[in-house]
Amino acid sequence: MRLITNLDYNKADFEQRLRFKTEPIIRVTPQLQHLAFDLLEIMYSLNAVGLAANQVGLKIQLCVLDPAFILNKKMPIIMFNPFILEHEEELYGSPEGCLSLPEFGLTVPRFRKIVVKYLGIDGQEHIIKDDNSLLASTLQHEIDHLNGILFVDRLTEKKEITFKERG
Ligand SMILES: [Zn+2]
Repeated sequence: MRLITNLDYNKADFEQRLRFKTEPIIRVTPQLQHLAFDLLEIMYSLNAVGLAANQVGLKIQLCVLDPAFILNKKMPIIMFNPFILEHEEELYGSPEGCLSLPEFGLTVPRFRKIVVKYLGIDGQEHIIKDDNSLLASTLQHEIDHLNGILFVDRLTEKKEITFKERG
């Protein structure tokens, strides 16, 4: 599994991988559980608080996150087929970075409060409500990835992205 960034991929290859909606999974198999733990390891090794499967070339609805990691704690969350069940209308400016667009640090409009439904590593349905803004914004960032949306797309002002040249 290799991280897909605009610095390592040309525009066509990048968009083919990151601007497409991923496929929902049918059920959580042992193979998918292994994949989720691999994704989590990659996330921690990159010092990130979230990673979506399509960022490393897997076209499935799987993301991992751990907002506690910035406090040097490990409280990993693994999500299959996550979606926003409810949200409040209030938006705030969330300071974010993205492993796939590493040169950008941006303030992105996000919902302050959301409720997300997903399948856990145990294969059961779970519901998570935000209890801090980093969790809420990370959830929105990763769910966006799985739907083919990048954080630059959430800005009203268009950002110019430079890609690797072909070849
Ligand atoms: Zn990202």
